[in-house]
Amino acid sequence: MAVSPVRRRALFAAALGVTIPALLLAAVAVILTFRIVRSVQNDTVRYNRYLGQQVAEAFELELMDHLRRAIGPAERVARDGGGVPAVIEALAAEGEEFVAPHFVAVDDLNNYSLIIVEALPLIYAPGEGRRVGQYFTGLLLRQPDGNVIGTGGWWIEPGDFVRRNFDSVLRERLPSDPRMYGGIELTRRASIEVVDEGGVRLGRLREPGDLRTARTEPMAGPFERLGVRVAGGPDSPVVWIGRFLALELAFIATMGLLIIAAVLFGYRYIVRQLELAGMKAGFVSNVTHELKTPIAMIRLAVETLEMKRFKSPDEERKFLGIIDRETQRLAGLVDNVLDFARLEAGRGIFKFDRVDVTQVAASAIDSLKPRLEHLGFRLDVDLPEGLPPARADATALTHCVLNLLDNAVKYSRQRREIRVAAGARNGWVTLSVADRGIGIAPGDRRRIFEKFVRLENGLVHDVRGAGLGLSLVDQIMRAHGGRVEVQSAMGEGSTFTLALPAAGPVEDERPEGASARTGT
Ligand code: ADP
Repeated sequence: MAVSPVRRRALFAAALGVTIPALLLAAVAVILTFRIVRSVQNDTVRYNRYLGQQVAEAFELELMDHLRRAIGPAERVARDGGGVPAVIEALAAEGEEFVAPHFVAVDDLNNYSLIIVEALPLIYAPGEGRRVGQYFTGLLLRQPDGNVIGTGGWWIEPGDFVRRNFDSVLRERLPSDPRMYGGIELTRRASIEVVDEGGVRLGRLREPGDLRTARTEPMAGPFERLGVRVAGGPDSPVVWIGRFLALELAFIATMGLLIIAAVLFGYRYIVRQLELAGMKAGFVSNVTHELKTPIAMIRLAVETLEMKRFKSPDEERKFLGIIDRETQRLAGLVDNVLDFARLEAGRGIFKFDRVDVTQVAASAIDSLKPRLEHLGFRLDVDLPEGLPPARADATALTHCVLNLLDNAVKYSRQRREIRVAAGARNGWVTLSVADRGIGIAPGDRRRIFEKFVRLENGLVHDVRGAGLGLSLVDQIMRAHGGRVEVQSAMGEGSTFTLALPAAGPVEDERPEGASARTGT
């Protein structure tokens, strides 16, 4: 029984009502996180550039400190009016950390540049010829009258200077200099490198953790060919937020999939439960009808016999026949319901034995013979001798055959022919019941084996049934390690075949898909 379109739509709307807000929420969370990540990245870039400038300045200050320390004697000589040769001598006596002393007279300062470091001019110029790669760095020297006589200083190798002083600048000067907010870089856990124009690294504080926000700031003065590259370190916020974003996206994707799967599963489950509930309701009314009809007929026959309202012994036999047939029907139905309940509860216990299927078929036919004859069926029986025995529970197997025969009778119209045949193939014993009845549409050949399913083919209302027979046959066959197959042509008839594993030496032989049903 199908679920009504209105109910389906209501369920679908409820499913959408859960899924859409959940997806919207997830989308908002993702967008917000992306914006936060973008903002942290932008801040990091700004901060990295700022820190790069601070580091560059720190190296200028460091150089200025070194120069001022080394130039002291030369300054004193100049102030005392010692003259240029004495000044040069004083320069040569100091500055051993530099390459060579150098003095530039005031008139020769045209090609020199200067930067102001801590309010003092630092004069510099790149070297040429044998001094390529070196820079002159010096301070102004004054005579006693205050006039500048020139610039005293040294040739330095800026890269070498950075390399040698990298640690003291980065680990001491920068963190301790309050004017440079140097401490900040420690809390931000930045990675700082100084590189030359060829990209060669002259010093590094911490591994970089995030290269997307790395920025290189050019240095100035005698360090003009170098740059400071600052990036977030391995523990920097930008790295953490990147990991958080990846985690969040993975989490949201997983949750999204779970929600969609749960909603789909829930939707299908509820539809199935509604279908089953509808089928059960149909089943109860079917069974009630199935019970009432034979009881009414038995009562009628018993009353007739009691009151002796029959005219001849033939009529008396007819009423006795009715009682017999209807009792059989009742017993069959009760058996079906009880077996079904047992199998559903997982209490289907079978006593397996070596069973001759031809005997099972013959006894089932015998018990139905009066009914078949009464209804005018022609019976064609092909039960060859010498078939291998099957491994089966004889009572359950008889029940299956009776159900198939009962269906063959119920779903035949004018052409009342039933053929029962047994056979053996590849370690299997088969038993088939064929009719020339209404047939089963290809799309229904799997469905008919589901519990409570009765096809909506007009006959359902005329023909009695609870929709349990084939489901029972299928379950019993599966429990036997066998299967039930159906072949059918609409309007031509149907053949149901039970296939069971043969007992004995070939008992364990099973072809592929042993427990599958097939419909053709
Ligand atoms: P029911 O009590 O309705 O016969 P079954 O489980 O035995 O229940 O069968 C399920 C449905 O399969 C039937 O309602 C009928 O529509 C279809 N069916 C079963 N056997 C045959 C057959 N031999 N020919 C045509 N249709 C059949």
